[in-house]
Amino acid sequence: MLKLNARTVALVETEILKPDDINIMRCASALKAGELVAFPTETVYALGASATDAQAVENVYEVKRRSHDKPLIVAVAKKSDIAKIVKTIPDKARILIEKFMPGALTLVFDRASCIPDAVTAGTESVAVRIPNNKIAQKLIELSGAPVVVPSANTADKASPTLAKHVYDDLGGKIRFILDGGESEIGIESTIVDIRTDPPKVLRAGGVTVKEIEREIGRVDIVRESVKLSGYMPNAEILFSAFYDGMVQNICSRYDEYVRTGKTAVIICLDKNISAYGSRTAYSLGNSYEEYAHNLFAVLRKADAEHFDAVIAEGVDPSGIGESLIARLIKLSGGMII
Ligand code: AMP
Ligand code: MG
Repeated sequence: MLKLNARTVALVETEILKPDDINIMRCASALKAGELVAFPTETVYALGASATDAQAVENVYEVKRRSHDKPLIVAVAKKSDIAKIVKTIPDKARILIEKFMPGALTLVFDRASCIPDAVTAGTESVAVRIPNNKIAQKLIELSGAPVVVPSANTADKASPTLAKHVYDDLGGKIRFILDGGESEIGIESTIVDIRTDPPKVLRAGGVTVKEIEREIGRVDIVRESVKLSGYMPNAEILFSAFYDGMVQNICSRYDEYVRTGKTAVIICLDKNISAYGSRTAYSLGNSYEEYAHNLFAVLRKADAEHFDAVIAEGVDPSGIGESLIARLIKLSGGMII
């Protein structure tokens, strides 16, 4: 018999389920029983566990091989549930909740006592979001408790935007994956710490800083550290700045790799792909929204095909471009070309 202890995760058979009412109910019961369930959200697939069950939360860290100093975001199904897991809701938070929830925005509050230390890495705060995905909302509602929602991948892999990605990473480790098709946005939520005034943006994501400032005025932006943490692709990632000579610069970097016997792939907008000639290039789509939507899946593909380097086209910092830049600086470990 397999023993479940702090460093062993028991092997189970993983079922990928169609998200009909019966299966959502099965998954909600599994959450209530302390099991882990992966499910779709509009940002990326989440690995859910009941946020009030410290052992279930501990199992999330084990399954993901996530460092214990990284707290987990908690999702609730509707706005009125937020007050149950936080101490107070500041006025600016109320404005952001009205405007952007459900959606790709996470707010950090003082936590209520029902949220265990296991969720918050021992800090007195809790990060809260309402996914804008009907399957996720129904599942959380039926489970009867808030649910932790880290991305449903192991710490060494890109966030999953398809049920298949989840299966590739977590198959054999969790009972159920609800298959809701492709995640719409494809990058994670924006995180704002609303406990200070001005509030602090801790991570740029699906909602842009400009959209937030339009509602509540100036915010501080905490630059994410580029230290090597979280998902690191096997390939070296180079991220280009956005300027007139970008295409030529990317071409010469690519050619340098090839000259030294290495393989590289350029990832770019569709409209630029012909400029790279016969070099290997993958299209990310026609817009920055599509770039964000496809980024993680394309990085997974590049890793699976064992490229030595991925050279990512630069984007201008408007709209979601800003969040893309933050994500790519981190992924490249600051290797900007
Ligand atoms: P991930 O689950 O990998 O998308 O990461 C969740 C992010 O939310 C991490 O960057 C955490 O540091 C942040 N986060 C989660 N909970 C809190 C919290 N209570 N206070 C501040 N940041 C948080
Ligand atoms: Mg993640």
